[in-house]
Amino acid sequence: MSRILDGTAVSKAIRAEVASGVASLAARGIVPGLAVVLVGDDPASAVYVASKGTAAREAGITERTLRFPADLPESALLTAVEELNRDDTVDAILVQLPLPKQIDSARILRAIDPRKDADGFHPVNAGLLLQGKPAPVPCTPAGILELLEREGVPLRGTRAVVVGRSDIVGKPMALLLLRRDATVTIAHSKTRDLPGLCREADLLVAAIGRPGFVTGDFVKEGAVLVDVGINRVTSRADVERFFPGDAKRRAAFDRNGSTLVGDCDPATAFPRASRYTPVPGGVGPLTIALLLRNTLELCRGRRLVAPSE
Ligand code: NDP
Repeated sequence: MSRILDGTAVSKAIRAEVASGVASLAARGIVPGLAVVLVGDDPASAVYVASKGTAAREAGITERTLRFPADLPESALLTAVEELNRDDTVDAILVQLPLPKQIDSARILRAIDPRKDADGFHPVNAGLLLQGKPAPVPCTPAGILELLEREGVPLRGTRAVVVGRSDIVGKPMALLLLRRDATVTIAHSKTRDLPGLCREADLLVAAIGRPGFVTGDFVKEGAVLVDVGINRVTSRADVERFFPGDAKRRAAFDRNGSTLVGDCDPATAFPRASRYTPVPGGVGPLTIALLLRNTLELCRGRRLVAPSE
């Protein structure tokens, strides 16, 4: 058994399943539609949106990206979202975050019809997740759960620690693990003795946003480690620290001037884990796969269920 939890392979499998589900709908004359809304010119957001669009089209989903300037007033974005809510060809709506400062993200996410909520960020869907009811679930934690289950990582009765309590990753991750009968602790920036708490975990999920923060002394020998972080490091000293002796990484850094590192220190944390998600190639690819699956499920829910049901 490989120590690496291979997010790329699992995401390929999920994407193939989605494509087959889309093909069955197409045979009945139904084509799922995804609308992506991008405000401003943040380069990272532009890259994410482009890859979501390509992946959707590859799966047979109709994808439309609405692009707006960074100074878009909040009212104009609300109007755009309402139009998408009314558009019968649109099954799933994704508003790319972060939004510019003048726009209240929470208000925009609340304006999305919960039945078209591709990211599962609407409070109604967050509430359904809390209650363990069917609802679109945020893509990153949903992808992690798929990865753990398909790779046969035991969850029932497991002591799990999730570091990070964001609405997008940490909290829904903790709820999904709880739903699978793990015993879950959520840690954050005010947690006392974080390394000691993390060392109790059989399953440790790091969703913090700090490169290499979780070092070997946070990890119980043999624990399973899920590294959600995506951090770009640009200093050679960091590359030497995180990837000592890794000639391939150093060559890539020399070519690109940067490299990606997660929230776990690959030099000291990964060697203690029985299994772990690498960065890149771990959690990242799953997020898009689950976006496609959410789109398919939302389409089925909206178009295959009779209005009276
Ligand atoms: P947020 O910034 O919203 O949340 C970060 C969390 O980490 C907060 O709860 C914060 O605690 C906690 N934290 C920060 N510093 C510390 C510390 N020193 N000790 C303990 N806890 C700390 O980030 P996100 O949840 O959105 O993302 C987390 C990471 O995951 C990022 O690297 C992001 O890029 C990555 N990500 C990756 C995705 C993927 O597809 N692979 C998708 C989404 C995110 P507090 O609440 O107390 O401030």
